Amino acid sequence: MPSLTLAEARTRAAQLSDVSYDVEIDLTDLQTFGSRVTVRFACTGPETFLELHRGQDVTVTLNGAPVDAAYDGARIPLTGLAERNEVVVDARLPYVSDGDGMHTFTDPADGERYVSAYVGVDITQRVFACFDQVDLKAPITLRVVADPAWTVLSNSAVAMNQADMWEFAPTPPIPIDLFVLCAGPWHSRTFQHGGLPMGWHARRSLAAELDRDFDELRRITEQCFDHYAGIFDEPFPFDTYDQVLVPELNWGAMENPGCVTFRDEFIPRGRITEGERTSRAMVIAHEMSHMWFGDLVTQTWWEDIWLNESFAEYMGFQVSEDAAGFAGTWVGFQITHKPRALVADRRRSTHPVAPLPEDVPDVDTASTNFDAISYVKGASALRQLVTWMGDEDFLAGVNAHLTKHRFANATLADLVDALDAASPREVRAWAEVWLRQSGHDAIRVERDGDVPVLVRDGIRPHRFLVTAYDDALVELDRRVVDLDVEPVRLDGWAGRVVVPNAHGETFARVQLDELSWSAVEDGLGALEDDLARSVLWATAVDAVATRDLQVERYLALVDRHLPAERHVDLISTVVEATLGPVLSKRVPAHDAAAVHERVAVACRAGLDAGGDPVTFSRALALASRDAEELRRWLADQRTDHDVALDPQLRWRVVRRLAGLGELDARAIEEERRRDGTSNGDLGAATALASRPTEEAKAEAWAVLVEGDVSNRRFSAVAAGLWPAEQAELAAAYLPRYLEAGPRWAARGPAFSQVVGHAFPAFHLDDAQLDLLREALAGDVPTVLRRYWQDVLDDRT
Ligand SMILES: [Zn+2]
Repeated sequence: MPSLTLAEARTRAAQLSDVSYDVEIDLTDLQTFGSRVTVRFACTGPETFLELHRGQDVTVTLNGAPVDAAYDGARIPLTGLAERNEVVVDARLPYVSDGDGMHTFTDPADGERYVSAYVGVDITQRVFACFDQVDLKAPITLRVVADPAWTVLSNSAVAMNQADMWEFAPTPPIPIDLFVLCAGPWHSRTFQHGGLPMGWHARRSLAAELDRDFDELRRITEQCFDHYAGIFDEPFPFDTYDQVLVPELNWGAMENPGCVTFRDEFIPRGRITEGERTSRAMVIAHEMSHMWFGDLVTQTWWEDIWLNESFAEYMGFQVSEDAAGFAGTWVGFQITHKPRALVADRRRSTHPVAPLPEDVPDVDTASTNFDAISYVKGASALRQLVTWMGDEDFLAGVNAHLTKHRFANATLADLVDALDAASPREVRAWAEVWLRQSGHDAIRVERDGDVPVLVRDGIRPHRFLVTAYDDALVELDRRVVDLDVEPVRLDGWAGRVVVPNAHGETFARVQLDELSWSAVEDGLGALEDDLARSVLWATAVDAVATRDLQVERYLALVDRHLPAERHVDLISTVVEATLGPVLSKRVPAHDAAAVHERVAVACRAGLDAGGDPVTFSRALALASRDAEELRRWLADQRTDHDVALDPQLRWRVVRRLAGLGELDARAIEEERRRDGTSNGDLGAATALASRPTEEAKAEAWAVLVEGDVSNRRFSAVAAGLWPAEQAELAAAYLPRYLEAGPRWAARGPAFSQVVGHAFPAFHLDDAQLDLLREALAGDVPTVLRRYWQDVLDDRT
């Protein structure tokens, strides 16, 4: 299938204007859905084309006359165009189970069916024929025929609903990749706020969970809404605000105008922890900020993904803290997000936060750039920009930009112009080094005698807080420094431990001097400030990845300070990083079990010392090699530290026991029946695949190669098939995975990401790394190729 190129998009955008869509979707048939669209547009050229993916029984009329031109399964050529045109495309299209298109899901808990259009870059054409590029923004009027017992949600308010027919009000001009339609017997909680109808919706079998969390979800929604209404000059741009918790979404959430979709894992059964509530609040704030950044003002082409994502990511963390009352959100950013961005910025696939349009030559390449650079490094850069130019000037520039380009498209240059006009500072020069150059700087601590000196290796100016501690890491003093070409002497702090960027205002590697680092090794757990501790844990995770820190010194830090850790994000992320990237990159496969054991010992010590029981128990369930301990938990339905086994913890225990060879297929099936939900089906799939036998691996593989396996089931099986401790047993499946990858990737860009994420977790030896190199020398589709290249860079 051809992937839309920048040149094609520019040609089409130059010719077309005044585009609008009337879309009619018929969901009554279970095999295929009906898709009829009337596209109206003005055109200055004789020909163009519409995209439509895998349409069946396609008929096209142009200005009332039938069009016979060959439809190749991807594009509908349109020739002989007039100044104003009306095209009608009628087709039947397939439903999907991979999250790229009209996704269907049947809930095993109650047999109810849900149908939602999950679109995004290059995917709307799987739902109706369209000009699938974001700079041809258009009003969309939607009519849907569906089961009369259902609720149907879309980007705008329902204008009319009679029996099985829903008609929605025309939207303002919106980018085509943010169309949405969610149909099914949703459980809905609706309310009014700010003069708008709002709602939270989830599938019926999660009604109890939505009801449990509704007051909080509503409060966060209202507080974020009021906050944005206060800081932005432009009013909320749409006529409704629904938030739908949907099954099997590939992304965390999607910022469709007026109707945001979230993966429904955000309302887990059983308990929801403080850490999960905080990150959910962050995502709610992130998506709502997109209503202005991305939806009201949209990038022109995909080089400016960062304009949406960096901004939303920055706002998500800041606003969930400032407006929704979740203190300490930046702690999570430092430890779970920033290390990923530093790793990404060292790969060959790194790119500037804002690349040139020519560096994103087609939409497949665009799909690969929804990465840690566009989200995390970009958000860090914006945080640095705000630190450097001040909140007031930043918002003045942003507001001028939003007003000037409302309901239209804009570029980096437009935003920089607006910020520059609002600030006495040289924003253009700042943007050149921060946004146009890839790679990251390092901030090092040196000593001149006893006096600490900060040195920058790199090209960017940095403004940040530097903190001085005594030998026991008790804070003594802090000051703001501007570090550029000239080193900064910290007179008055002779002999002190110093930590630059201890609150994370800038984006750089931090390299402490030996005096400071050994104080951290001795006293990290005692350091009071959560944010400074998260910066230091992140520094350790980064240093072990770059081989600047020996694995043994890193593990000693875990042994010594994890048990005393108080912040739940720090506990869970350090454990996941240790059992994930640290193992797969730095620890030979035969030592994987020993590392699990060390982490388990640290978690038990944390529990015995009175550490957060839920977080340490969940972590222990990932690491424990003590089958008796885990069996006891299952039998008692609670851990040794009296934490009840809710579904999430119970499935971790079941998977772990299965992985240790201590649970057979019959016992796993009993657990699945006992659970009875889609989540239970997935838990069982992972547990079955985890069993350390040849037969179990063969059965798991057979599921992966089923033609229509769903995205979630694929991920669940892969999560059990090749864990770090089963390298020898699972080795045979690495070449098979590499061989099958390109075939799987043909299903679509989102499924390609699922396949990439499923890469074997065990440590690859030299011969296995060569297999990966050989696979990359062959024909691998763009999105999957990017994943595999990144794995190669991360593990060598
Ligand atoms: Zn986003």
